[in-house]
Amino acid sequence: MIENYKIIEKISEKRIHQEVRRIARDITSEYQNKEPILIGVLNGVFVFFADLIREISIPIKIDFVRLASYGSKNVSSGKIVLTKDVELSIEGKPVIIVEDIIDTGLTLTYLVSHIKERGPESVKICALINKLKRREKDINIDYWGLEFKEGFIVGYGLDYNERFRHLPYILSLEMEK
Ligand code: 5GP
Repeated sequence: MIENYKIIEKISEKRIHQEVRRIARDITSEYQNKEPILIGVLNGVFVFFADLIREISIPIKIDFVRLASYGSKNVSSGKIVLTKDVELSIEGKPVIIVEDIIDTGLTLTYLVSHIKERGPESVKICALINKLKRREKDINIDYWGLEFKEGFIVGYGLDYNERFRHLPYILSLEMEK
């Protein structure tokens, strides 16, 4: 069944890539002689992550984690389980967690404390999209691209029921009940 939705806003490919390049430039200049480990949070991050790492011009290492959040489809409940852990050794290393979108902040809060238990030198947060309205946890996002106040975001890796991930642009949708 195809659900009904209305498009509130479209963010073009060009605009997304401007933001991705800006974040990559900031990371490149702040991590000179460091070789940070970028940890992508699957699945939604895969498109952003692939574009971001190719714009970074210092040596880096990459790894991925995956988390499952129990609750309704569009809102995380706070009950979070790690279903794929980091495989590289991050002890004593500078780590950058790369997320697609930060909404309530519950997923990231859980992940940051999990990563810190492994004794990295530092942990910074990078997210393509910062959604402020439903934030429950106070999180300092070090690098972020776009800010949204409302809507459910899809495209550029982000899904709604596994649809829309392949779109090269981003849509903010209003779901019709
Ligand atoms: P948080 O724990 O910050 O509430 O949610 C983080 C996760 O919820 C994201 O990594 C993403 O998987 C999902 N999420 C939150 N808001 C949206 C949204 O607007 N669109 C999509 N596709 N996923 C979202």
